[in-house]
Amino acid sequence: MTHVFHRHLRHTPRLAVAASGMTLRDAEGREYLDASGGAAVSSLGHGHPDVIAAMHAQIDKLPYAHTSFFTSEPAEQLADELIRTAPAGMSHVYLVSGGSEAVESALKMARQYFVEIGQPQRTHFIARRQSYHGNTLGALAVGGNAWRRAPFAPILVPATHVSPCYPYREQRAGETPEQYGRRLADELEAAILGQGPDSVIAFVAETVGGATAGVLTPVPGYFKAVREVCDRYGVLLILDEVMCGMGRTGTLYACEQEGVVPDLVTIAKGLGGGYQPIGAVLAQGKIVEAMSQGSGFFQHGHTYLGHPVACAAALAVQRVIHRDGLLAKVRSDGEAFGAMLREALGAHPNVGDIRGRGFFWGVELVADRASKAPFDPALNLHVQIKKEAMAQGLLCYPFGGTVDGKLGDHVLLAPPFIASRDDLREIATRLAASVDAVVRAATTNS
Ligand code: PLP
Repeated sequence: MTHVFHRHLRHTPRLAVAASGMTLRDAEGREYLDASGGAAVSSLGHGHPDVIAAMHAQIDKLPYAHTSFFTSEPAEQLADELIRTAPAGMSHVYLVSGGSEAVESALKMARQYFVEIGQPQRTHFIARRQSYHGNTLGALAVGGNAWRRAPFAPILVPATHVSPCYPYREQRAGETPEQYGRRLADELEAAILGQGPDSVIAFVAETVGGATAGVLTPVPGYFKAVREVCDRYGVLLILDEVMCGMGRTGTLYACEQEGVVPDLVTIAKGLGGGYQPIGAVLAQGKIVEAMSQGSGFFQHGHTYLGHPVACAAALAVQRVIHRDGLLAKVRSDGEAFGAMLREALGAHPNVGDIRGRGFFWGVELVADRASKAPFDPALNLHVQIKKEAMAQGLLCYPFGGTVDGKLGDHVLLAPPFIASRDDLREIATRLAASVDAVVRAATTNS
């Protein structure tokens, strides 16, 4: 009997007792190769001595100081480091405890910005279907996962959802990627016009879609076209890089590869690499200036803002990423990883699409490759795949299809950046074996 309120209430998960490098161990001595960094969190793997030493040093010196009284050295240093490496024009970092808090803070920052500059009529967000921005109510409102939203829909703030950038299913025959991206930007423009352009606060999107989307990489030019549309109507662009940021796609920010600079960008997960819960919002100077010259106060806050130990851990993670050249490693090994996945899974009749960038890959399953029809969601293939992969000593991150049948069961892979090529090959091999075993059982039984 457990007293922990686990997310699944009918079974208790295995007890994890130790972790080191690419491997986690449970209480029964089973070892698991970490192919998903938990949920795209563990960028440096487990037990990194530099991060642990930085945390120890900070706990000894100053474990906690509330931000209504003090700032702290690690918070100041982390913000300096993040601004040094940030997209152009970012001037300040708001340090929170995770991804949902970061998104929630960004939404409120955007809203307060318009109140400060005399446009309080802007009350509406536009975001995308098949997206995930977190589980707190504001983040859930902009998120586009129909299943997660359903029970709470009547109590969410207003948001309109447009199409995600999902070429595998939604790029039309004969349409170039550029034309497809343009069409999506036109759809966004129509949504802004439909809503009334001066009532829209921001367009919110994951630069590379993660949870709920099975790793959706944008087509070339899509985000540039989106940026232009936002600028035309004075709408802010909030990019959510909680999952895809901090090096996961081979550059520190995924938006660097799109040639766009957002007004606000959210990060978390890889920021602290799982050593501490931490997230952040980076804001363009104009947003901070509007508040500093206006009310002088951001009307928001949490008890653990800028937690010194979390900041010390994140700073150490960032330093290791740069010192060890991990961004270049993620780019080159990421391409090799994609090739390994294609080799191991590409010919499988039920693998519809393998897509990704850097150390961030998605494998989408289909019941039929020609029609791209997803498997019946009642089969719960993603649950079986997770189970089978664990039995084979592999941690991957499968999701179910969406209720509208637009996305099949899929597996998200986000290994730590320290993974060797042998680790990556092993991940591809074990995943292929797990997928094949589960699909075979499901198609034999049905
Ligand atoms: N935004 C994105 C893009 C995410 O992928 C997630 C989590 O998966 C979140 C926000 C929410 O982050 P957290 O679970 O840390 O609250």
